[in-house]
Amino acid sequence: MSSTPVVPHWIDGAEFPGTSGRTAAVFDPALGVETKRVALADESEIQRAVASAKAAFPAWRDLSLAKRQQVMFSFRELLNARKGELAEIITAEHGKVQSDALGEITRGQEVVEVATGIPQLMKGEYSESVSTGVDVYSIRQPLGVVGIISPFNFPAMVPMWFFPLALAAGNSVILKPSEKDPSAAIWIARLLKEAGLPDGVFTVLQGDKVSVDGLLEHPDVASISFVGSTPIAQYVYETGARHGKRVQALGGAKNHMLVLPDADLDLVADSAINAGFGSAGERCMAISVVVAVEPVADALIEKITERMATLRIGDGRRNCDMGPLVTKEHRDKVAGYIEIAEQDGATVVVDGRGVEIDGDANGFWLGPTLIDQVPTSSRVYTEEIFGPVLSIVRVKTYAEGVELINSGAYGNGTAIFTNDGGAARRFQNEVQVGMIGINVPIPVPVAYFSFGGWKNSLFGDTKAHGAAGVRFFTQEKAITSRWLDPSHGGINLGFPQN
Ligand code: NAD
Repeated sequence: MSSTPVVPHWIDGAEFPGTSGRTAAVFDPALGVETKRVALADESEIQRAVASAKAAFPAWRDLSLAKRQQVMFSFRELLNARKGELAEIITAEHGKVQSDALGEITRGQEVVEVATGIPQLMKGEYSESVSTGVDVYSIRQPLGVVGIISPFNFPAMVPMWFFPLALAAGNSVILKPSEKDPSAAIWIARLLKEAGLPDGVFTVLQGDKVSVDGLLEHPDVASISFVGSTPIAQYVYETGARHGKRVQALGGAKNHMLVLPDADLDLVADSAINAGFGSAGERCMAISVVVAVEPVADALIEKITERMATLRIGDGRRNCDMGPLVTKEHRDKVAGYIEIAEQDGATVVVDGRGVEIDGDANGFWLGPTLIDQVPTSSRVYTEEIFGPVLSIVRVKTYAEGVELINSGAYGNGTAIFTNDGGAARRFQNEVQVGMIGINVPIPVPVAYFSFGGWKNSLFGDTKAHGAAGVRFFTQEKAITSRWLDPSHGGINLGFPQN
């Protein structure tokens, strides 16, 4: 154990090995072995991290927009040139296949590209002569030290939903990555330094609940951007708000794809496979339920099943289509839902247990699984599974399908597949979900729009990136100014009017 490398923190522009004596295991999921440990912060390390970020803030805030923008341009160039290194790190700790790891970096890079436009994005407004000789204008200023707490499933993209805009706007950032795949954050920290970011402006605080609570309660942390499961998102939202912080907390999901009888079933089958089994279903925008408006279900299941037979499951470094699940515990939990489906009277059409793999037998494997006739009372339907398990629910009408989607606790993403523009338009109007795809299965908005769901998929009112991201990481001042002229109006205790 003593020779196992320990993933450190990143404080004051350098690796900080950690002094708490607490660590957690990091696995290579395709090999099923512990390859590293990660440092878990204690109270004194939290204080050290926040103090460093706080000390770095004033100079960074006061640096010109052009200079902060230059750091983002440099970071973008370095990331673009070296993203292969980061993808390898992600695959080795998360398990997703290399092409998918590159995909998440590219989507994160989009936000960096938007952040290079910060001088434009932070502009205020100006109204001349709101009263005689009086002008009013607004400016946006950074918050100070901002915290980002991220989940295991996108160790690069989710932090990049937040930190490029936070940094470009002039904040100091403390990132608390998932303890399951903590190395990507350190690689990113090193690259930001190389791009010219001053020491202390970007900190990585490794850890578990202790670090999260430390950030939530610390008076010098101004805001929290959280992404993870719904119970923790709600906890983070409530605890952060109680401590006077601005909080955006994105939670779990259960995304439905509504298939109307006139849809192109080949497109639907391809989309269901891609969105259901990509990244082994460990995506918050994964499709987990196909709602088939009859009579399409039988034909669709045939097409999906045919395609499932062609998928190569295995080590993400071997050009496979789908990798392992992140940990043994998570794999076992997801496989448990297949048992529940059987007990609840659903039909397991394709069973991923015992899948043939191109990889080490000890990896955390579970093959793509398709379950038909899933009762909507079953936990397979009501709970987020977060694995390669696709459920089919059959309904008789469009209205029944929409009602089902709207009755769910989550509202992250959804999709409709149809050739009927009127039906699609009605769907976008009626469905109670934050991100909608029309013949697009994973409707993750581009970076200049904002990402976030409704209901239990987002606590707080502010989505990630786009205009919402700029608003979240800045606070507005409105200034009413009058430059002295000799014609002031004397004493008047009435409320100022125009
Ligand atoms: P998680 O909730 O277990 O962990 C997320 C973060 O919270 C991690 O940094 C973890 O260290 C921390 N954490 C865990 N338990 C905690 C506790 N008791 N107190 C304080 N902090 C705690 O989530 P995960 O398993 O890493 O990620 C998967 C979940 O994230 C899924 O539910 C998925 O839907 C969700 N997710 C949502 C989005 C979105 O945009 N809505 C995006 C990605 C992932």
